[in-house]
Amino acid sequence: MNTFAPSPARTAKIPLTQMAPRLIFPALNRKENKKVIRVKVFDGLHAFLWRVHTQNNCNAYLIDGEMKILVDPGHRHLFGHILKNLDLLGISLDQISVAVVTHGHPDHLEAITQLHASTMVSMSHEEYKNIKKFDGLYADMPEPAFFLEEGDLQIGDHRLQVMMTPGHSPGSLCLYWPDKKALFTGDVVFFQGIGRTDLPGGNGKELKKSIQRISRLDTEYLFTGHGEILIGKEAIKANFQKIEAYWFNSL
Ligand SMILES: [Zn+2]
Repeated sequence: MNTFAPSPARTAKIPLTQMAPRLIFPALNRKENKKVIRVKVFDGLHAFLWRVHTQNNCNAYLIDGEMKILVDPGHRHLFGHILKNLDLLGISLDQISVAVVTHGHPDHLEAITQLHASTMVSMSHEEYKNIKKFDGLYADMPEPAFFLEEGDLQIGDHRLQVMMTPGHSPGSLCLYWPDKKALFTGDVVFFQGIGRTDLPGGNGKELKKSIQRISRLDTEYLFTGHGEILIGKEAIKANFQKIEAYWFNSL
């Protein structure tokens, strides 16, 4: 059985009051029926937001520039949607320099097998060690080109910071982009929710510490692994406050 089952999010209907994010998803014409909505959030960042709630898949992000970074390629059998959107942007797979995998669950990781051979896949060593315990499930996963550690990460012109944020999985990481005040959270936090802690290697106390840590960052853009993204410091702060009030007692 696949122990990394779908539904990574623990979400709740939290009263919203004034915490509505400035952007959820653009309204869709019913006929469009798109599974992925591609949003250019700002120059250099495209969000590929997964819209089908019956099929678990993650949001993916493209950090554009001379070197292109794909964050969380998602499920293998759903990667065609990303490909189509990359194609619309005029970007081919061999132009993706690096794929950053926030953590090793299949809905974030699996599609690394679909990337071009020249794309360097990276994740934390802790996470790689963890997924290798599930040999059958991950037998065909290529070894990462390099491992990510806590601290600065320079990829071409992009100056990023890796933050180790265990709890949802042992080697989960968040990626912070100081110049843009953008935070890629994987499944650590969502709009109104947090990552599950009942999957192998999950740990509620660790997750709580990780959330507290990233909540202190100066963040204008919260790029979550599933569901809505949040834009605006106040909306993001309110989201962390609601998460703390609603979830922390049970972690
Ligand atoms: Zn996950």
